[in-house]
Amino acid sequence: MTQTCIVIGASHAAAQLVFSLRQEEWQGKIIVIGDEASIPYHHPPLSKTFLSGDKAADELFIRPHALYEKHNIDFKLETRVESINRASKSVILSSGEILKYDKLALCTGSRPRQLALPGAELIGVHYLRTISDGESIKSAMATAKEAVIVGGGYIGLETAASLNSLGIEVTVLEMESRVLARVTSPEVAQFYSRVHQEEGVVIKTGVTVSAFEGKGKIERVICSDGSQFNTDLLVIGVGIIPNIELADAAGLEVDNGILVDEYARTNDPDIVAAGDCTNHPNAHYGQQLRLECVPNTLEQAKSAAASICGNEKEYNTIPWFWSDQYDLKLKIVGLSQGFDQLVIRGDKDNSRSFVAFYLKSGKLIAADCINRPQEFMVCKRLIATRSAVDLARLQDENTSPKDFAI
Ligand SMILES: Cc1cc2nc3c(=O)[nH]c(=O)nc-3n(C[C@H](O)[C@H](O)[C@H](O)COP(=O)(O)OP(=O)(O)OC[C@H]3O[C@@H](n4cnc5c(N)ncnc54)[C@H](O)[C@@H]3O)c2cc1C
Repeated sequence: MTQTCIVIGASHAAAQLVFSLRQEEWQGKIIVIGDEASIPYHHPPLSKTFLSGDKAADELFIRPHALYEKHNIDFKLETRVESINRASKSVILSSGEILKYDKLALCTGSRPRQLALPGAELIGVHYLRTISDGESIKSAMATAKEAVIVGGGYIGLETAASLNSLGIEVTVLEMESRVLARVTSPEVAQFYSRVHQEEGVVIKTGVTVSAFEGKGKIERVICSDGSQFNTDLLVIGVGIIPNIELADAAGLEVDNGILVDEYARTNDPDIVAAGDCTNHPNAHYGQQLRLECVPNTLEQAKSAAASICGNEKEYNTIPWFWSDQYDLKLKIVGLSQGFDQLVIRGDKDNSRSFVAFYLKSGKLIAADCINRPQEFMVCKRLIATRSAVDLARLQDENTSPKDFAI
């Protein structure tokens, strides 16, 4: 009898998982159920080239419609999976339909953390996760003169850069004492603050937003220290929450993400999970991780597909991430938490190209590479192989990255 694999979420992970399933020779049906209107699309451009107008919505699809058809991959869009019945191996859809599965993949992603503040319902208050969010922001940008971004993380800063490049006056409000506090070192954060200020973005740190005000539409942001910022467009980027409720209600193990092993398997042998929604072990760092990035999503989806087909493909890659702002192409490899030494290569105070290396007990554990693709590639390999590195060579611009290792 033909088997059925159901994938929940027409997501980035799903776009990889379904083709990996065919590569693993899954002969059965594949049905992707997504609550958005679109087949899987790239989210990263939403805060970058999509907002700046360099890419249109129909250029964001990860794969064209025709390719899914060719591989017999069916979609049910604008349809939500309301619950999973593990006993009967079925899912209940928002349409009322009940579908049976033999294997189930949870690729439910994450959603923006919302600020429940007075005025949060005003027109002009936006979050940025989906194409539809991006389109709303874009149409507001057409008439906006001033924008406030709440949150100085990567999405907030990328959005600030895109809006600024179109001539909108942008103010970023960050609660912490610096931008990028959760994700990078003070040195790299200070660099980004400098560049944004050089580009004309106003950055206010140590300010806590307490309310939004306006007559039906956002007009100003109020902070707890009494300061106020006029705006006609507000974008909030204060982190994400993994979509785990469905898994939790079905009795799957969850803890800051759906718990999976290194093969993307949940505690149910017929259910895997991949992408932003998972909390998974990383053998290299010896810890559980919940990552929020495309490379994680793609690699984990491949492991999930293998597990569905009864094969074992261990997911154990070094995390990496990128961010584009202005002419800055940042690539981050590894996890810098717990570093005991920071080494800089390049002039971070006067140029727009440098590397911040993070070391622990003399070993490289992470690197932030700004406009430095060669160093990024080398660091990826050195971190994976736990190679000892020579500090003087890391710093010396005359030493080729190929010679970093001792
Ligand atoms: C603006 C922005 C910029 C980004 N920039 C970068 C970047 O530069 N580099 C990088 O590496 N990463 C970036 N990311 C993160 C990256 O896009 C995510 O890590 C990735 O999209 C996660 O993919 P996913 O498959 O886990 O989930 P998603 O692609 O988010 O998809 C999950 C889907 O599942 C749907 N869903 C959830 N529950 C249900 C249900 N019950 N029924 C049906 N459907 C459901 C959701 O609505 C959603 O459509 C960015 C993200 C955003 C939003």
